Amino acid sequence: PISEYSATSTGHSTGNTTSNGDDNTLLRAAMVALVRNSELDGIRATIRQVDDRFNREFGYPYILLNDVDFTDEFMDKVQAITKAKIYFGKLPESHWGLSPYVTEEKVKAALAHNKDRYLYGGSYSYRLMCRYQSGFIHKHPLLANLDYYWRIEPGVDYYCSLTYDPFRYMRDNNLVYGYTIAPTEKELTVETLWNTTRRWMIENPEHLPEKSFIHWTINEKSKYTMCHFWSNFEIVDLSFYRSAAYESYFQHLDRAGGFFYERWGDAPVHSIAASMLLRKEQIHWFEDIGYHHPGYAHCPNKPELHRNCICDKGQNFMYHGMCNRRFAEVGNINKDQALELAHL
Ligand code: GDP
Ligand code: MN
Repeated sequence: PISEYSATSTGHSTGNTTSNGDDNTLLRAAMVALVRNSELDGIRATIRQVDDRFNREFGYPYILLNDVDFTDEFMDKVQAITKAKIYFGKLPESHWGLSPYVTEEKVKAALAHNKDRYLYGGSYSYRLMCRYQSGFIHKHPLLANLDYYWRIEPGVDYYCSLTYDPFRYMRDNNLVYGYTIAPTEKELTVETLWNTTRRWMIENPEHLPEKSFIHWTINEKSKYTMCHFWSNFEIVDLSFYRSAAYESYFQHLDRAGGFFYERWGDAPVHSIAASMLLRKEQIHWFEDIGYHHPGYAHCPNKPELHRNCICDKGQNFMYHGMCNRRFAEVGNINKDQALELAHL
């Protein structure tokens, strides 16, 4: 199943991009954000930084998605900030809404119960967003011809100039998932996520690869470490999210109801999937991409990296974080061992 995650180039692309050969043409890739009209300033600031740090040189398109129509003002002002091609898209209605497997009554009760337990505990729209980013964003028609996406968000900071194309780096090194920051998740938001996941593993062993990096997220006592890749930044080979294994896993999670009854985020979902279905060598820490999203920042501290960055080397969460250390220390385990963890 692993070879099916490597990028292939069939069909034609969104924008004037091609992926053939080793010349300087763009890959079939884009910067993609789900964004609200109210976040106009934030997305302009993000695009300006992405252009400054990387994309003005390369010219990858931006794809902005919204559950409602973008206003004319929004589209005008975003287009005014960049020379790159921007695609504005609305979500298909069937991709944004209550899961068919949950009941409104139970969801209402869950929101009331969780309201004061954690951030967004009582928010319905936040749950729609997490479910969308977990199971649907890669199915948006504007992404249909892309091999890779780089997820961006309004109001984040990109600290470092890049001298190379990360999409090409992913392709040339057979990478499937790239991240910058890996914190721990709030346990109350994912109380049954691992137990739900292990049931899927036991019921669908044919989808499990011969070797995986699952030990990063699941410790030797079969407890979820809460480690996840912070998915507000992620560069991903989309054939991974489009794979039969990922889709089966998402459907299983959706049926269990935790996107609504709890507050499963797309970050832990993507991360458990990546560690369970990929090998360590397919996952890459972009240490050189200094990044800030409210909550955490990563500023590269190695002199040869920091010289390309404008950031405080004291913002070095990743050099102390438990999950980063675990990423370095843990290796792949084979399928039998992964299933043993699932059974524990
Ligand atoms: P946080 O990073 O977990 O605090 O969540 P955010 O509020 O940043 O939301 C994550 C991403 O989804 C951001 O890019 C938001 O712009 C986007 N987003 C969140 N909720 C909605 C929504 O209801 N509609 C749209 N169109 N975008 C949303
Ligand atoms: Mn955010």
